[in-house]
Amino acid sequence: MLRSFLTAAALAALALPAQAQDLLIRGGTIHTGNDAAPTAEVVIARDGRIAWVGAAADAPSTEGLTVIDLDGATLFPGFTDGHAHLDGIGWRELTLNLEGSTSVVDAMARLTAWAEAHPEGPIIGRGWIETRWPESANGARFLTAADLDAAAPGRVVLLERADGHAITASSPALAAARIDASTVAPSGGEIARGPDGQPTGFIVDAAMSLLAPLMPQADPEAKRNAYRAGFRVEARYGWTGIHFMSAPWSDIPLLEQMAEAGEAPLRVYNSVTPDGGAALIASGPRSVANGRIITRAIKYYVDGALGSRGAALHEPYSDAPHTSGLMQTTREDMAPLYENALRSGIQVATHAIGDRGNTEVLTWYRDAMAAVPAGERGLAQPRWRVEHAQILRPGDEPMFRDLQVIASMQPSHAIGDFHFASARLGDARLDGAYAWHSLVDLGVVVVGGSDAPVERGDPLIEFYAAVARRDLEGFQGPDWRPNEAVDRATALKMFTLWPAFASFREDELGTIEVGKRADFTAFDIDLMTVAEADIPGGRAVLTVVDGEVVYRAD
Ligand SMILES: [Zn+2]
Repeated sequence: MLRSFLTAAALAALALPAQAQDLLIRGGTIHTGNDAAPTAEVVIARDGRIAWVGAAADAPSTEGLTVIDLDGATLFPGFTDGHAHLDGIGWRELTLNLEGSTSVVDAMARLTAWAEAHPEGPIIGRGWIETRWPESANGARFLTAADLDAAAPGRVVLLERADGHAITASSPALAAARIDASTVAPSGGEIARGPDGQPTGFIVDAAMSLLAPLMPQADPEAKRNAYRAGFRVEARYGWTGIHFMSAPWSDIPLLEQMAEAGEAPLRVYNSVTPDGGAALIASGPRSVANGRIITRAIKYYVDGALGSRGAALHEPYSDAPHTSGLMQTTREDMAPLYENALRSGIQVATHAIGDRGNTEVLTWYRDAMAAVPAGERGLAQPRWRVEHAQILRPGDEPMFRDLQVIASMQPSHAIGDFHFASARLGDARLDGAYAWHSLVDLGVVVVGGSDAPVERGDPLIEFYAAVARRDLEGFQGPDWRPNEAVDRATALKMFTLWPAFASFREDELGTIEVGKRADFTAFDIDLMTVAEADIPGGRAVLTVVDGEVVYRAD
Protein backbone atom coordinates (compact mmCIF):
# COMPACT_ATOMS: atom_id res chain seq x y z
CA MET A 1 0.00 0.00 0.00
CA LEU A 2 2.81 2.40 0.82
CA ARG A 3 4.47 1.76 -2.52
CA SER A 4 1.36 2.45 -4.55
CA PHE A 5 0.69 5.53 -2.45
CA LEU A 6 4.16 6.90 -3.05
CA THR A 7 3.89 6.22 -6.76
CA ALA A 8 0.69 8.23 -6.81
CA ALA A 9 2.42 11.01 -4.88
CA ALA A 10 5.33 10.97 -7.32
CA LEU A 11 2.96 11.31 -10.26
CA ALA A 12 1.13 14.12 -8.50
CA ALA A 13 4.46 15.88 -8.08
CA LEU A 14 4.49 16.53 -11.81
CA ALA A 15 1.78 19.11 -11.17
CA LEU A 16 3.76 21.89 -9.54
CA PRO A 17 2.30 24.31 -7.01
CA ALA A 18 1.32 27.48 -8.81
CA GLN A 19 3.06 30.01 -6.60
CA ALA A 20 6.36 28.17 -6.14
CA GLN A 21 9.27 30.40 -7.02
CA ASP A 22 12.81 29.37 -7.70
CA LEU A 23 14.58 30.70 -4.63
CA LEU A 24 18.09 31.32 -3.44
CA ILE A 25 18.26 31.87 0.32
CA ARG A 26 21.40 33.22 1.98
CA GLY A 27 22.57 35.72 4.56
CA GLY A 28 22.33 33.63 7.72
CA THR A 29 23.24 30.29 9.21
CA ILE A 30 21.39 27.34 7.69
CA HIS A 31 20.93 24.34 9.98
CA THR A 32 20.16 21.47 7.64
CA GLY A 33 19.22 18.77 10.14
CA ASN A 34 21.42 16.51 8.00
CA ASP A 35 23.99 14.98 10.35
CA ALA A 36 26.49 14.52 7.48
CA ALA A 37 26.54 18.27 6.70
CA PRO A 38 24.79 20.07 9.55
CA THR A 39 25.28 23.67 8.43
CA ALA A 40 25.30 25.55 5.13
CA GLU A 41 25.30 29.13 3.84
CA VAL A 42 23.14 28.94 0.74
CA VAL A 43 20.15 26.86 -0.28
CA ILE A 44 18.50 26.91 -3.72
CA ALA A 45 14.97 25.69 -4.40
CA ARG A 46 13.69 24.93 -7.90
CA ASP A 47 10.20 23.76 -8.79
CA GLY A 48 9.34 23.38 -5.11
CA ARG A 49 12.28 21.12 -4.28
CA ILE A 50 15.72 21.67 -2.82
CA ALA A 51 18.15 21.84 -5.73
CA TRP A 52 21.41 22.89 -4.09
CA VAL A 53 22.82 23.26 -0.54
CA GLY A 54 26.31 24.39 0.35
CA ALA A 55 28.88 27.09 1.06
CA ALA A 56 28.54 30.61 -0.31
CA ALA A 57 31.89 30.37 -2.08
CA ASP A 58 30.67 27.40 -4.15
CA ALA A 59 27.17 28.69 -4.89
CA PRO A 60 26.02 28.88 -8.48
CA SER A 61 24.89 32.13 -10.08
CA THR A 62 21.69 33.75 -8.87
CA GLU A 63 20.40 34.18 -12.42
CA GLY A 64 16.72 33.36 -12.69
CA LEU A 65 16.37 32.99 -8.93
CA THR A 66 14.49 35.10 -6.42
CA VAL A 67 17.06 35.94 -3.76
CA ILE A 68 15.97 36.01 -0.13
CA ASP A 69 18.42 37.60 2.26
CA LEU A 70 18.01 36.16 5.76
CA ASP A 71 19.64 39.30 7.13
CA GLY A 72 21.17 37.37 10.01
CA ALA A 73 18.18 35.13 10.69
CA THR A 74 18.66 31.37 10.93
CA LEU A 75 17.10 28.86 8.56
CA PHE A 76 15.89 25.39 9.54
CA PRO A 77 14.05 22.55 7.86
CA GLY A 78 10.32 23.31 7.96
CA PHE A 79 8.97 23.04 11.49
CA THR A 80 5.99 20.71 11.80
CA ASP A 81 3.53 20.68 14.68
CA GLY A 82 3.10 16.97 15.36
CA HIS A 83 -0.19 17.39 17.23
CA ALA A 84 -2.49 20.34 16.67
CA HIS A 85 -6.14 21.06 16.02
CA LEU A 86 -6.34 23.31 12.98
CA ASP A 87 -10.08 23.86 13.33
CA GLY A 88 -9.70 24.88 17.00
CA ILE A 89 -6.78 27.16 16.16
CA GLY A 90 -8.97 28.92 13.62
CA TRP A 91 -11.99 29.14 15.89
CA ARG A 92 -9.79 30.55 18.65
CA GLU A 93 -9.18 33.50 16.34
CA LEU A 94 -12.89 33.90 15.67
CA THR A 95 -14.40 33.35 19.16
CA LEU A 96 -13.76 34.56 22.72
CA ASN A 97 -10.16 33.67 23.53
CA LEU A 98 -9.50 33.29 27.25
CA GLU A 99 -5.94 32.05 26.84
CA GLY A 100 -3.61 33.79 29.27
CA SER A 101 -6.37 35.03 31.57
CA THR A 102 -4.73 35.61 34.93
CA SER A 103 -7.66 35.12 37.32
CA VAL A 104 -11.38 34.42 37.49
CA VAL A 105 -11.85 38.18 37.62
CA ASP A 106 -9.75 38.73 34.49
CA ALA A 107 -11.48 35.94 32.55
CA MET A 108 -14.91 37.28 33.47
CA ALA A 109 -13.94 40.84 32.52
CA ARG A 110 -13.04 39.49 29.07
CA LEU A 111 -16.41 37.72 28.90
CA THR A 112 -18.27 40.91 29.78
CA ALA A 113 -16.40 42.88 27.11
CA TRP A 114 -17.10 40.20 24.50
CA ALA A 115 -20.79 40.00 25.47
CA GLU A 116 -21.17 43.76 25.06
CA ALA A 117 -19.46 43.68 21.67
CA HIS A 118 -21.54 40.67 20.51
CA PRO A 119 -25.05 41.27 21.85
CA GLU A 120 -26.73 38.50 19.82
CA GLY A 121 -26.55 34.72 20.01
CA PRO A 122 -24.70 32.23 22.14
CA ILE A 123 -21.20 33.05 23.37
CA ILE A 124 -18.57 30.40 22.71
CA GLY A 125 -15.14 30.75 24.23
CA ARG A 126 -12.20 28.66 25.24
CA GLY A 127 -8.70 28.71 26.63
CA TRP A 128 -9.18 29.31 30.37
CA ILE A 129 -7.13 27.28 32.81
CA GLU A 130 -7.41 27.72 36.56
CA THR A 131 -4.06 26.24 37.61
CA ARG A 132 -2.18 29.54 38.07
CA TRP A 133 -5.14 31.66 39.14
CA PRO A 134 -4.88 33.23 42.59
CA GLU A 135 -8.42 31.95 43.29
CA SER A 136 -6.98 28.40 43.05
CA ALA A 137 -4.52 28.93 45.92
CA ASN A 138 -6.49 26.55 48.15
CA GLY A 139 -7.51 24.08 45.45
CA ALA A 140 -8.64 24.16 41.84
CA ARG A 141 -11.16 26.98 41.32
CA PHE A 142 -13.07 26.05 38.17
CA LEU A 143 -15.33 28.59 36.50
CA THR A 144 -18.98 28.18 37.48
CA ALA A 145 -22.34 29.06 35.99
CA ALA A 146 -22.66 31.72 38.68
CA ASP A 147 -19.47 33.42 37.41
CA LEU A 148 -20.77 33.40 33.84
CA ASP A 149 -24.26 34.58 34.83
CA ALA A 150 -22.80 37.58 36.65
CA ALA A 151 -20.49 38.52 33.77
CA ALA A 152 -23.00 38.01 30.94
CA PRO A 153 -26.48 38.02 32.48
CA GLY A 154 -29.15 36.03 30.67
CA ARG A 155 -26.81 34.77 27.95
CA VAL A 156 -26.11 31.25 26.75
CA VAL A 157 -22.37 30.97 27.42
CA LEU A 158 -20.13 27.93 26.91
CA LEU A 159 -16.49 28.34 27.94
CA GLU A 160 -14.26 25.40 27.20
CA ARG A 161 -11.31 24.75 29.48
CA ALA A 162 -7.94 24.97 27.71
CA ASP A 163 -7.42 21.21 27.72
CA GLY A 164 -10.66 20.68 25.82
CA HIS A 165 -11.83 18.15 28.40
CA ALA A 166 -14.33 20.34 30.29
CA ILE A 167 -16.78 23.16 29.61
CA THR A 168 -18.41 25.60 32.00
CA ALA A 169 -21.96 26.48 30.96
CA SER A 170 -24.04 29.46 32.12
CA SER A 171 -27.43 28.90 33.77
CA PRO A 172 -29.35 29.70 30.55
CA ALA A 173 -27.13 27.19 28.74
CA LEU A 174 -27.75 24.51 31.39
CA ALA A 175 -31.49 25.16 31.14
CA ALA A 176 -31.43 24.97 27.34
CA ALA A 177 -29.54 21.67 27.53
CA ARG A 178 -31.95 20.43 30.25
CA ILE A 179 -29.17 19.73 32.70
CA ASP A 180 -30.45 19.90 36.27
CA ALA A 181 -30.11 18.18 39.65
CA SER A 182 -31.72 15.01 38.30
CA THR A 183 -29.54 14.66 35.17
CA VAL A 184 -27.33 11.57 35.17
CA ALA A 185 -23.92 12.06 33.54
CA PRO A 186 -23.20 9.68 30.66
CA SER A 187 -20.52 7.08 31.31
CA GLY A 188 -17.04 8.58 31.00
CA GLY A 189 -18.32 12.01 32.00
CA GLU A 190 -19.14 14.09 35.04
CA ILE A 191 -21.56 16.88 35.94
CA ALA A 192 -19.97 18.73 38.87
CA ARG A 193 -22.46 19.50 41.64
CA GLY A 194 -22.55 21.87 44.58
CA PRO A 195 -23.48 20.94 48.16
CA ASP A 196 -27.14 21.47 47.21
CA GLY A 197 -26.92 18.81 44.48
CA GLN A 198 -27.40 21.41 41.73
CA PRO A 199 -24.98 21.43 38.77
CA THR A 200 -22.23 24.04 39.21
CA GLY A 201 -22.00 24.45 35.45
CA PHE A 202 -18.66 22.58 35.16
CA ILE A 203 -19.18 19.65 32.76
CA VAL A 204 -16.40 17.12 32.16
CA ASP A 205 -15.44 14.81 29.25
CA ALA A 206 -18.26 12.61 27.91
CA ALA A 207 -20.91 14.75 29.66
CA MET A 208 -19.98 17.63 27.34
CA SER A 209 -22.05 15.83 24.69
CA LEU A 210 -25.14 17.08 26.57
CA LEU A 211 -24.14 20.61 25.50
CA ALA A 212 -23.52 19.75 21.85
CA PRO A 213 -27.01 20.83 20.68
CA LEU A 214 -26.19 24.38 21.85
CA MET A 215 -23.09 24.68 19.68
CA PRO A 216 -23.81 26.82 16.62
CA GLN A 217 -23.70 24.64 13.53
CA ALA A 218 -20.97 26.14 11.44
CA ASP A 219 -21.92 26.53 7.78
CA PRO A 220 -19.30 25.69 5.15
CA GLU A 221 -18.29 29.32 4.67
CA ALA A 222 -17.76 29.79 8.41
CA LYS A 223 -15.68 26.64 8.51
CA ARG A 224 -13.64 27.80 5.55
CA ASN A 225 -13.03 31.09 7.36
CA ALA A 226 -11.92 29.21 10.47
CA TYR A 227 -9.44 27.13 8.48
CA ARG A 228 -8.18 30.27 6.72
CA ALA A 229 -7.62 31.88 10.12
CA GLY A 230 -5.89 28.74 11.36
CA PHE A 231 -3.53 28.61 8.39
CA ARG A 232 -2.73 32.31 8.77
CA VAL A 233 -1.78 31.98 12.44
CA GLU A 234 0.25 28.82 11.92
CA ALA A 235 2.24 30.25 9.00
CA ARG A 236 3.03 33.32 11.12
CA TYR A 237 4.41 31.09 13.89
CA GLY A 238 6.70 29.42 11.36
CA TRP A 239 4.99 26.07 11.01
CA THR A 240 5.22 24.56 7.53
CA GLY A 241 3.08 21.57 8.46
CA ILE A 242 0.56 20.34 10.97
CA HIS A 243 -0.48 16.88 12.02
CA PHE A 244 -4.17 17.65 12.37
CA MET A 245 -5.46 15.52 15.23
CA SER A 246 -9.15 14.66 15.34
CA ALA A 247 -9.62 16.26 11.95
CA PRO A 248 -13.41 16.12 11.52
CA TRP A 249 -14.08 13.48 8.87
CA SER A 250 -16.82 15.66 7.39
CA ASP A 251 -14.29 18.51 6.89
CA ILE A 252 -11.81 16.50 4.81
CA PRO A 253 -13.45 17.35 1.45
CA LEU A 254 -13.43 21.05 2.40
CA LEU A 255 -9.72 20.96 3.24
CA GLU A 256 -9.01 19.11 0.00
CA GLN A 257 -10.99 21.68 -1.99
CA MET A 258 -9.13 24.51 -0.30
CA ALA A 259 -5.80 22.89 -1.16
CA GLU A 260 -6.79 22.41 -4.78
CA ALA A 261 -7.88 26.05 -4.93
CA GLY A 262 -4.50 27.15 -3.58
CA GLU A 263 -5.99 28.08 -0.20
CA ALA A 264 -3.97 25.66 1.94
CA PRO A 265 -0.60 27.33 2.42
CA LEU A 266 0.67 24.67 4.85
CA ARG A 267 0.98 20.89 4.79
CA VAL A 268 -1.75 19.08 6.64
CA TYR A 269 -1.49 15.46 7.72
CA ASN A 270 -4.93 14.37 8.89
CA SER A 271 -5.66 11.96 11.72
CA VAL A 272 -9.44 11.82 11.43
CA THR A 273 -12.27 11.44 13.90
CA PRO A 274 -13.40 7.82 14.38
CA ASP A 275 -16.65 8.37 12.43
CA GLY A 276 -14.50 8.38 9.30
CA GLY A 277 -12.52 5.32 10.28
CA ALA A 278 -14.43 2.71 8.30
CA ALA A 279 -14.49 4.85 5.15
CA LEU A 280 -10.77 5.64 5.38
CA ILE A 281 -9.91 1.97 5.93
CA ALA A 282 -11.98 1.11 2.85
CA SER A 283 -10.51 3.84 0.62
CA GLY A 284 -6.92 3.71 1.83
CA PRO A 285 -4.74 6.83 2.24
CA ARG A 286 -5.88 10.02 0.47
CA SER A 287 -3.61 12.70 -0.94
CA VAL A 288 -4.44 15.85 -2.92
CA ALA A 289 -2.74 18.93 -4.30
CA ASN A 290 0.72 17.49 -4.64
CA GLY A 291 0.65 15.95 -1.18
CA ARG A 292 -0.38 19.19 0.52
CA ILE A 293 -3.28 17.46 2.29
CA ILE A 294 -2.73 13.81 3.23
CA THR A 295 -5.27 11.76 5.15
CA ARG A 296 -4.08 8.40 6.40
CA ALA A 297 -4.59 8.15 10.16
CA ILE A 298 -7.44 7.74 12.64
CA LYS A 299 -7.46 9.36 16.07
CA TYR A 300 -8.95 7.53 19.05
CA TYR A 301 -9.14 8.34 22.76
CA VAL A 302 -8.69 6.03 25.74
CA ASP A 303 -8.78 8.58 28.54
CA GLY A 304 -9.03 12.28 29.41
CA ALA A 305 -6.58 14.85 30.79
CA LEU A 306 -4.57 15.17 33.99
CA GLY A 307 -5.76 18.63 35.02
CA SER A 308 -9.44 17.64 35.11
CA ARG A 309 -8.54 14.20 36.58
CA GLY A 310 -9.88 12.44 33.51
CA ALA A 311 -6.56 10.70 32.79
CA ALA A 312 -6.83 6.99 33.67
CA LEU A 313 -4.34 5.96 36.39
CA HIS A 314 -3.41 2.57 37.81
CA GLU A 315 -3.67 3.95 41.36
CA PRO A 316 -5.97 6.73 42.63
CA TYR A 317 -5.13 10.41 42.24
CA SER A 318 -2.95 11.57 45.12
CA ASP A 319 -5.17 14.63 45.64
CA ALA A 320 -8.51 12.83 45.03
CA PRO A 321 -8.27 9.30 46.46
CA HIS A 322 -11.82 8.47 45.41
CA THR A 323 -10.95 8.49 41.70
CA SER A 324 -8.42 6.95 39.33
CA GLY A 325 -9.72 8.84 36.30
CA LEU A 326 -11.91 7.68 33.45
CA MET A 327 -11.39 5.17 30.66
CA GLN A 328 -13.22 6.34 27.52
CA THR A 329 -13.31 3.00 25.74
CA THR A 330 -12.71 -0.73 26.15
CA ARG A 331 -10.46 -3.36 24.69
CA GLU A 332 -13.51 -5.11 23.18
CA ASP A 333 -14.49 -1.96 21.29
CA MET A 334 -11.00 -1.17 20.05
CA ALA A 335 -9.65 -4.57 19.00
CA PRO A 336 -11.60 -4.92 15.73
CA LEU A 337 -10.92 -1.27 14.79
CA TYR A 338 -7.20 -1.67 15.38
CA GLU A 339 -7.01 -4.96 13.49
CA ASN A 340 -8.85 -3.52 10.46
CA ALA A 341 -6.60 -0.47 10.42
CA LEU A 342 -3.57 -2.72 10.50
CA ARG A 343 -4.83 -4.78 7.56
CA SER A 344 -5.39 -1.69 5.41
CA GLY A 345 -2.20 0.19 6.29
CA ILE A 346 -4.01 3.03 8.04
CA GLN A 347 -2.10 4.63 10.88
CA VAL A 348 -3.70 4.67 14.32
CA ALA A 349 -3.08 7.51 16.77
CA THR A 350 -4.56 7.02 20.24
CA HIS A 351 -4.76 9.66 22.95
CA ALA A 352 -3.43 8.28 26.25
CA ILE A 353 -2.36 10.47 29.17
CA GLY A 354 -2.55 8.48 32.43
CA ASP A 355 -0.26 5.55 33.17
CA ARG A 356 -3.17 3.13 33.00
CA GLY A 357 -4.37 4.65 29.71
CA ASN A 358 -0.90 4.15 28.26
CA THR A 359 -0.57 0.58 29.53
CA GLU A 360 -3.92 -0.31 28.01
CA VAL A 361 -3.21 1.25 24.62
CA LEU A 362 0.23 -0.33 24.33
CA THR A 363 -1.22 -3.71 25.31
CA TRP A 364 -4.06 -3.37 22.80
CA TYR A 365 -1.57 -2.35 20.09
CA ARG A 366 0.60 -5.38 20.94
CA ASP A 367 -2.38 -7.72 20.79
CA ALA A 368 -3.62 -6.29 17.47
CA MET A 369 -0.14 -6.67 15.96
CA ALA A 370 -0.04 -10.27 17.20
CA ALA A 371 -3.48 -10.94 15.69
CA VAL A 372 -2.49 -9.42 12.32
CA PRO A 373 1.07 -10.53 11.53
CA ALA A 374 3.28 -8.48 9.22
CA GLY A 375 2.38 -10.47 6.12
CA GLU A 376 -1.33 -9.65 6.52
CA ARG A 377 -0.81 -5.91 7.09
CA GLY A 378 -1.14 -3.07 4.64
CA LEU A 379 2.20 -1.90 6.01
CA ALA A 380 4.57 -4.29 7.74
CA GLN A 381 5.79 -1.43 9.95
CA PRO A 382 2.62 0.54 10.68
CA ARG A 383 4.22 3.39 12.71
CA TRP A 384 1.33 3.63 15.14
CA ARG A 385 1.33 6.50 17.57
CA VAL A 386 0.36 7.27 21.15
CA GLU A 387 -0.72 10.89 21.47
CA HIS A 388 0.61 12.58 24.64
CA ALA A 389 2.10 9.46 26.37
CA GLN A 390 2.34 11.73 29.40
CA ILE A 391 2.53 9.43 32.40
CA LEU A 392 4.27 6.10 31.87
CA ARG A 393 4.99 3.27 34.27
CA PRO A 394 8.73 2.78 33.85
CA GLY A 395 8.16 -0.82 32.71
CA ASP A 396 5.95 0.38 29.86
CA GLU A 397 8.57 2.60 28.21
CA PRO A 398 10.32 -0.32 26.44
CA MET A 399 6.99 -1.30 24.86
CA PHE A 400 7.25 1.79 22.65
CA ARG A 401 10.60 0.49 21.42
CA ASP A 402 9.56 -3.13 21.07
CA LEU A 403 6.38 -2.33 19.14
CA GLN A 404 8.03 0.54 17.22
CA VAL A 405 5.28 2.84 18.44
CA ILE A 406 5.82 6.58 18.05
CA ALA A 407 5.40 8.79 21.14
CA SER A 408 3.73 12.08 20.12
CA MET A 409 4.45 14.49 22.97
CA GLN A 410 3.94 18.17 23.76
CA PRO A 411 6.75 19.85 25.70
CA SER A 412 4.59 22.83 26.68
CA HIS A 413 2.19 20.50 28.49
CA ALA A 414 5.02 19.48 30.82
CA ILE A 415 5.98 23.01 31.81
CA GLY A 416 2.34 23.88 32.45
CA ASP A 417 1.33 20.63 34.14
CA PHE A 418 4.34 20.34 36.45
CA HIS A 419 2.79 23.14 38.50
CA PHE A 420 0.13 20.65 39.63
CA ALA A 421 1.37 17.23 38.51
CA SER A 422 2.95 16.30 41.84
CA ALA A 423 -0.33 17.13 43.62
CA ARG A 424 -2.23 14.86 41.24
CA LEU A 425 0.35 12.05 41.12
CA GLY A 426 2.68 12.26 44.13
CA ASP A 427 6.41 12.20 43.57
CA ALA A 428 7.14 8.59 42.55
CA ARG A 429 4.88 8.60 39.49
CA LEU A 430 6.71 11.66 38.12
CA ASP A 431 9.61 9.38 37.19
CA GLY A 432 7.66 8.42 34.09
CA ALA A 433 6.12 11.84 33.43
CA TYR A 434 6.85 13.62 30.15
CA ALA A 435 9.83 11.27 29.81
CA TRP A 436 11.11 12.48 26.42
CA HIS A 437 14.75 11.80 27.09
CA SER A 438 14.21 8.28 28.40
CA LEU A 439 12.17 7.39 25.33
CA VAL A 440 14.70 8.91 22.91
CA ASP A 441 17.47 6.98 24.67
CA LEU A 442 15.51 3.78 24.07
CA GLY A 443 15.45 4.57 20.35
CA VAL A 444 11.80 5.65 20.28
CA VAL A 445 10.74 8.28 17.73
CA VAL A 446 9.37 11.20 19.78
CA VAL A 447 7.31 13.64 17.74
CA GLY A 448 7.00 17.13 19.19
CA GLY A 449 3.76 19.05 19.04
CA SER A 450 1.92 21.88 20.72
CA ASP A 451 -1.67 20.60 20.98
CA ALA A 452 -2.79 24.11 19.97
CA PRO A 453 -5.27 25.57 20.74
CA VAL A 454 -4.82 23.79 24.10
CA GLU A 455 -1.45 25.57 24.18
CA ARG A 456 -0.49 28.67 22.23
CA GLY A 457 1.12 26.74 19.39
CA ASP A 458 4.39 28.68 19.15
CA PRO A 459 7.27 26.45 17.97
CA LEU A 460 9.74 28.48 20.01
CA ILE A 461 7.84 27.82 23.24
CA GLU A 462 7.77 24.11 22.39
CA PHE A 463 11.48 24.01 21.53
CA TYR A 464 12.34 25.91 24.71
CA ALA A 465 10.20 23.64 26.88
CA ALA A 466 11.86 20.56 25.35
CA VAL A 467 15.41 21.74 26.05
CA ALA A 468 14.91 23.79 29.23
CA ARG A 469 12.05 21.99 31.02
CA ARG A 470 11.37 25.29 32.78
CA ASP A 471 8.29 27.44 32.62
CA LEU A 472 8.32 30.71 30.69
CA GLU A 473 9.47 32.58 33.80
CA GLY A 474 12.47 30.26 34.02
CA PHE A 475 11.06 28.42 37.03
CA GLN A 476 11.82 24.74 37.53
CA GLY A 477 10.47 22.95 40.60
CA PRO A 478 12.57 20.40 42.48
CA ASP A 479 10.37 17.58 41.14
CA TRP A 480 10.41 18.56 37.44
CA ARG A 481 12.88 15.81 36.45
CA PRO A 482 15.40 18.02 34.58
CA ASN A 483 17.14 14.85 33.36
CA GLU A 484 14.24 14.42 30.93
CA ALA A 485 15.12 17.61 29.00
CA VAL A 486 16.61 16.88 25.56
CA ASP A 487 19.57 18.47 23.78
CA ARG A 488 18.95 20.95 20.97
CA ALA A 489 19.78 18.62 18.11
CA THR A 490 17.19 16.17 19.47
CA ALA A 491 14.63 18.93 19.93
CA LEU A 492 15.17 19.96 16.30
CA LYS A 493 14.44 16.40 15.17
CA MET A 494 11.28 16.36 17.30
CA PHE A 495 9.87 19.20 15.20
CA THR A 496 11.33 18.38 11.77
CA LEU A 497 12.58 14.91 10.83
CA TRP A 498 10.54 12.88 13.28
CA PRO A 499 7.16 14.35 12.33
CA ALA A 500 8.19 13.62 8.74
CA PHE A 501 8.81 9.99 9.74
CA ALA A 502 5.53 9.83 11.64
CA SER A 503 3.69 10.91 8.47
CA PHE A 504 5.65 8.44 6.27
CA ARG A 505 7.45 11.28 4.50
CA GLU A 506 11.03 11.21 5.79
CA ASP A 507 12.23 10.76 2.19
CA GLU A 508 10.56 14.04 1.23
CA LEU A 509 10.57 16.24 4.33
CA GLY A 510 12.35 16.94 7.60
CA THR A 511 15.88 17.96 6.54
CA ILE A 512 17.46 20.40 4.09
CA GLU A 513 18.89 17.99 1.51
CA VAL A 514 18.90 18.03 -2.27
CA GLY A 515 15.77 16.41 -3.69
CA LYS A 516 13.54 17.00 -0.69
CA ARG A 517 10.62 19.42 -0.67
CA ALA A 518 11.61 23.06 -0.21
CA ASP A 519 10.04 23.57 3.24
CA PHE A 520 11.89 26.01 5.47
CA THR A 521 11.42 27.96 8.67
CA ALA A 522 13.60 30.91 9.64
CA PHE A 523 13.73 32.48 13.09
CA ASP A 524 15.37 35.72 14.14
CA ILE A 525 17.44 33.75 16.69
CA ASP A 526 19.73 30.76 16.28
CA LEU A 527 17.98 28.05 18.27
CA MET A 528 21.12 25.95 18.39
CA THR A 529 23.31 28.57 20.09
CA VAL A 530 21.23 31.35 21.68
CA ALA A 531 20.96 31.48 25.49
CA GLU A 532 18.20 29.13 26.61
CA ALA A 533 16.17 31.88 28.29
CA ASP A 534 16.13 33.86 25.02
CA ILE A 535 14.49 31.12 22.94
CA PRO A 536 10.84 31.99 23.68
CA GLY A 537 11.48 35.66 22.89
CA GLY A 538 12.43 34.93 19.29
CA ARG A 539 10.02 34.94 16.39
CA ALA A 540 9.55 33.36 13.01
CA VAL A 541 10.53 35.61 10.10
CA LEU A 542 10.10 33.33 7.07
CA THR A 543 7.95 30.31 6.29
CA VAL A 544 8.39 28.49 2.96
CA VAL A 545 6.37 25.48 1.78
CA ASP A 546 7.11 23.73 -1.51
CA GLY A 547 9.28 26.71 -2.44
CA GLU A 548 6.39 29.10 -1.86
CA VAL A 549 6.89 31.94 0.62
CA VAL A 550 3.77 31.64 2.77
CA TYR A 551 4.87 34.09 5.46
CA ARG A 552 7.55 36.71 5.62
CA ALA A 553 7.94 39.21 8.47
CA ASP A 554 8.06 42.87 7.53
ZN1 LIG B 1 -5.00 17.33 21.17
